[in-house]
Amino acid sequence: MIPEDKRVRNEIFLKGLFRKYYQENKVSPPLSIEKREFGFMFFGSQNMVRHLSFTNAESLQQFMFSRVPSNAFYSAAYYSKPDAAKMDEKGWEGCDLIFDIDADHLRTPCKETHDKWVCQNCGESGLGGRPEKCPRCGGQNIEERTWLCETCLETAKNELIKLIEDFLMADFGISADELRVVFSGHRGYHVHITSRVLLDLDQNARREIIDYIKGVGIEPYYHGLMEVREGRSKILKGPRVSEEGWRGRLARGVIKTILSMSEESIPQDRKVRAALQKLLKDRSRVVASLGEGIWDPVRGVSLDAWKYVVKTAIEEVGGKVDEPVTSDVRRLIRLPTSLHGKTGFKVSLVKLGEISNFDPFRHALAFKGEVTVHVNEAPRFRIGEEEFGPFKDEDVELPLSAAVLLLCKSVAYLK
Ligand SMILES: [Zn+2]
Ligand SMILES: [Zn+2]
Repeated sequence: MIPEDKRVRNEIFLKGLFRKYYQENKVSPPLSIEKREFGFMFFGSQNMVRHLSFTNAESLQQFMFSRVPSNAFYSAAYYSKPDAAKMDEKGWEGCDLIFDIDADHLRTPCKETHDKWVCQNCGESGLGGRPEKCPRCGGQNIEERTWLCETCLETAKNELIKLIEDFLMADFGISADELRVVFSGHRGYHVHITSRVLLDLDQNARREIIDYIKGVGIEPYYHGLMEVREGRSKILKGPRVSEEGWRGRLARGVIKTILSMSEESIPQDRKVRAALQKLLKDRSRVVASLGEGIWDPVRGVSLDAWKYVVKTAIEEVGGKVDEPVTSDVRRLIRLPTSLHGKTGFKVSLVKLGEISNFDPFRHALAFKGEVTVHVNEAPRFRIGEEEFGPFKDEDVELPLSAAVLLLCKSVAYLK
């Protein structure tokens, strides 16, 4: 915990830096700025101030450097009266299609080492994601202290590339110039699609898109996996790797799954287990044969065993997108080129061709200079070329961007 007086000093310092950033950098306004609702958070408060609107980019810029919000958001939706205080008086006119990929929702093993929770009632703490109830006192007021790490961000980026290339472009036919890719400034990426034809989609339609991407409710039979009678025997038919949409994706996913499946991960069910062991014993031949579109290279593997493989494959190749962000047509999303109050990083626009080279710990940095801070506790992290920490109760001189990250995360205070 940071003592109150030091916390206030941190906030004044951060606010000064954010103000300077907004004096020197133009924020990039959303399309049709006059139809968007804006929301902001300010230093020293957890509340969101909503229902604001701006008629042009200049008035938004003026607001950013005079009021200096710690976090800035705008509505994915377009409204005729964006500043109306009640949602049903705003006059909804459509909504951009937004996708959110966040390490919070991805399974990365490193979270068990760098994320922490603390019970606000009894002080009990632990590593990893927050439990529903405190194991000591049963309290539910549990604070999460997440960290952003390279592995988590790399995993999120791979999911981002999969979402764009495999789903949005290949399956939905969305073109490169309709997509805006944004690094969230914390643990993930957003994709904004502003195509006119998609603006009218309601919540259910957006949920359907998410289900499609995640592979929810996929019935392998309708994608070509079935037993067919040939003469006296039954043979298994399945989709080919080169087919479009989920058919080809399933076939490729099954190959991936067989290649990566370990003996230990096989389910206990005796019949399925025996069949899978057969498949794994002959792994390379099975994979080669599936590549040719032949689904029964090994005799005696039941349809149930294949269905298990397919189910695992869907989890592997399905998109990992956060449903509520896409389906909520009244949600506020982070304003690109603003600063993220939990990191001091830039919410950065990333060009499509530069996604794989985008490095949040280099390209999203907003500050230059150095400052000395007292760090309570921080895991090892990188800023630019340099690595820092781990720190525990010590004074350190750090590049400003590194210090700001620790101050924003409330794990350090200004000396
Ligand atoms: Zn507790
Ligand atoms: Zn991680």
